Amino acid sequence: MYENIPDKVTNIIVTGKSGAGKQPRIDVLVEEFDLEQLSTGNIFRSYLGKFNDHGYSGDIGQFWQEDQFVPDEEIAKELKTQDPDVILGMKAKYFVDRGLFVPDFITNELFRAYFSRKNYRDQVLDGYPRTLDQAEFLMKLLEEEDSRVDFILWVDNDDEMIVERTVNRRICPDCGKVYHLVYKPPRDGKCEVCDVEVVQRSDDTEEKIRSRLGEFKEKVIPAMKYLEEQGIPIARVPGHLEDFTPENVRKSVLSSVNKIF
Ligand code: AMP
Repeated sequence: MYENIPDKVTNIIVTGKSGAGKQPRIDVLVEEFDLEQLSTGNIFRSYLGKFNDHGYSGDIGQFWQEDQFVPDEEIAKELKTQDPDVILGMKAKYFVDRGLFVPDFITNELFRAYFSRKNYRDQVLDGYPRTLDQAEFLMKLLEEEDSRVDFILWVDNDDEMIVERTVNRRICPDCGKVYHLVYKPPRDGKCEVCDVEVVQRSDDTEEKIRSRLGEFKEKVIPAMKYLEEQGIPIARVPGHLEDFTPENVRKSVLSSVNKIF
C-alpha cells in the first residue's frame, strides 16, 4: 500500500508549530521505522526540572544582561551550586518560560552531545533544528559523521486551533504522555500509565504560545526552506483530523511520506 517508502531510514526531522500535534505523528514514525525520539524540548525541560529541584526563589532575569549571560562563576555563586546541570537549567528556564527559543550556541552543543550518544543515527529529531543556524550546524554534523536525514515531516495546523489545544494541554511529568482537558482528559487527573498527577507546562499559557508561534514564522520556516534546498524532501500532514484515531493518524502520515519517495 505504501510501496514507495523505504524499509530503513537513517534520521527524520519532525517540525511544526509548537502545539501543532507532532507527538502522535512522531509515535507513528518511531514505530514504523524503528527509531528513537530525540526532543530538544524534552531535554531542556529535564534541565529546567533540575534547576527547579535545586530551589531558587530569586529573579533569574538578573543573569541575562546585554544579550548574554553573566559569567558562570557569578551564576554559581548566587545559586549556591557548582552543578553545571543546574546552571544550564536556569539558562533554559529563562528562555523556555518566556516562550522564546534558547540561543543557538546553547542548543547546538546540547543537541550534539545527545545526538553523538546515539551515533548520529536512528533518531526522530523533534523540535530541532528550529533556526537557520541550527539547520546549518546539523548539515555540517551529518556530513562529518557520514549520516543523513531522509525527510522532514511537517505537521500543519492553524494558530487559533493551536492556542485552544495548548492551553488545555496537560502532560505526565514522568513519561511525557500528552492529555487534553476536553478531548483526552486524564482520569482523576492522573496519567493512565504512571498513575501520577498530570501537569501543565509552565510555557503553555496563551501569551507564551503566541510568542512561540511568532518564533516559528520568523525562524523555523527559513530553516526548513534551507533544508529543502539542501535536497531533503518535505512531507506535510494535517495536525487536525476530524476523526482522530490512531489508524487515521498512521494513514495520514504514511500516505504523505509515500508521496515524496
Ligand atoms: P517544545 O517542547 O518543542 O515546544 O520546546 C519547548 C521550548 O524549548 C521551546 O519553546 C524553546 O524555548 C525550547 N526549545 C526546544 N527546542 C529548541 C530549539 N531547537 N531551539 C531553541 N529552543 C528550543
